Amino acid sequence: MLDNVRVVLVNTSHPGNIGGAARAMKNMGLTRLVLVDPQRFPDPNAAARGAGADDVLDGAVIVPTLEEAIADCVLVMGTSARDRRIPWPVVDPREAAEIALDQIAELPEAQVALVFGREDSGLTSDELQRCQFHVHIPSNPDFSSLNLAAAVQVLAYELRMLVLKRQSQPTHMQKVETTALQNEIPTTAGEMEQYFAHLQQVLVEIGFLDPQKPRQLMPRLRRLYGRIRINRMEMNILRGILTETQKAIGVKAAGERRR
Ligand code: SAH
Repeated sequence: MLDNVRVVLVNTSHPGNIGGAARAMKNMGLTRLVLVDPQRFPDPNAAARGAGADDVLDGAVIVPTLEEAIADCVLVMGTSARDRRIPWPVVDPREAAEIALDQIAELPEAQVALVFGREDSGLTSDELQRCQFHVHIPSNPDFSSLNLAAAVQVLAYELRMLVLKRQSQPTHMQKVETTALQNEIPTTAGEMEQYFAHLQQVLVEIGFLDPQKPRQLMPRLRRLYGRIRINRMEMNILRGILTETQKAIGVKAAGERRR
């Protein structure tokens, strides 16, 4: 899906930003970079800031005009740090990702371009008018302009999040724990009964529960535990606490008996 999306950088002056953009793209699974008339490229600074995104940089297509960069695209979105004079459909990066992926879902061969402007002056009005949508990252209005590579990062991240969501893939790191299996096993009703019996016994032993006047303590505790789903590992902890409590009062009782 992301192979249909190209990042177009227009007339970039700092090669470091091209590298930073390539890195941001590769981090988020984007590969296709198009450079419109870059001022300095290839350049060691691009490779350095790319930090290993060499494949994206080596595969970058260089063209002289924006027109050529987007000629085969059915959807072109231009990013802009500020309001322009002509009213235009403006979306945020999350909406932009939806529009882009909807387009690709509808037409699997659809080519989509995300266009980014010059570090000093952004995209010209003429260039912005070649875009169906303008994408604005809702930044601080008093300081709205992000670094070019940072802006690429934000859009690429939103695309990745949406692709993962639509493919029902996890967006969390999978924790590899030896206890992972234990964590997933829920406690059975039988185990809960054993626990409540043990708990009641300890509460009596420590003098918190008077068997002659139990009041509503046990039903209330059952209701409390009923609000959560305790797993096997947590049950082991709770049972361990009860056992250690019994040992502690047992030691004390034995000590007292000795006296
Ligand atoms: N002074 C320029 C800022 C250019 S920043 C201007 O006013 O347009 C370089 C590029 O980063 C922009 O052309 C745009 O592609 C992207 N960018 C920076 N901040 C952005 C923002 N808040 N929303 C969308 N794109 C942004």
